[in-house]
Amino acid sequence: CGIVGYIGKRDAYPIVLNGLKRLEYRGYDSAGIALYDGENLNVSKTKGKVSDLQSKMEKDNLITGNIGIGHTRWATHGVPNDVNSHPHYSNNGNLVIIHNGIIENYEPLKKELKNRGYTFKSDTDTEVLVNLIEDVQNQQGVKLGKAVQIALNQTIGAYAIAVFDKTKPDEIIVARLGSPLAIGVGEDEFFIASDASPFLEFTKNAIYLEDGEMAIVRTHKEIKVRKIHDDSLVDPYVQELQMNLEE
Ligand code: GLU
Repeated sequence: CGIVGYIGKRDAYPIVLNGLKRLEYRGYDSAGIALYDGENLNVSKTKGKVSDLQSKMEKDNLITGNIGIGHTRWATHGVPNDVNSHPHYSNNGNLVIIHNGIIENYEPLKKELKNRGYTFKSDTDTEVLVNLIEDVQNQQGVKLGKAVQIALNQTIGAYAIAVFDKTKPDEIIVARLGSPLAIGVGEDEFFIASDASPFLEFTKNAIYLEDGEMAIVRTHKEIKVRKIHDDSLVDPYVQELQMNLEE
């Protein structure tokens, strides 16, 4: 299972797609990509191989956008099928998420959200998390980064996540606890991935998030890294990767 993301000036699709191919070694049963092109948020996903996803996306011609996230799934909650594949939307259709890991307490959270009128298309724990984030936004009127942090503080489990809001498509929020997550830092562009292999050809500068950290990755801005649980700011350590890691 793996996650990939891109935000910047380039076409996100080839970067995210090829990134997923590089992460195939990690094992998976389904794959999906969400892209926002300034007009439409397109989510394509399928059970099967990344190459199946590629055929589908190129046939439907849903490959435009400068912000994108992609996922290979290793199902833990909900059988491997198209609907349970990531990315998942929130109910208002604005938020999309990809997630590796498990939200252990998704059942009580789901029950509470259902009581408040939320509906669910999939059987995944992940769809609960994205709706929880939307719910925090709705209830507390906070920015996405804060909403993600508040929501994560209500979860028990493990995760590497990437989330964005199509109404604010200049940022991606990422967080990690128990699943790896690296951020490639380019010139006013950023890459996100489970390991550095998807972005080594574009940048050698990487930040490896530590467990319990989250980052707001925003174009035209410095990366902000903070601790999910106590809210303290972390000075991000940008590491220069060696060429031979690529081989
Ligand atoms: N728990 C999530 C699911 O079953 C994510 C699984 C993964 O790590 O790919 O959909």
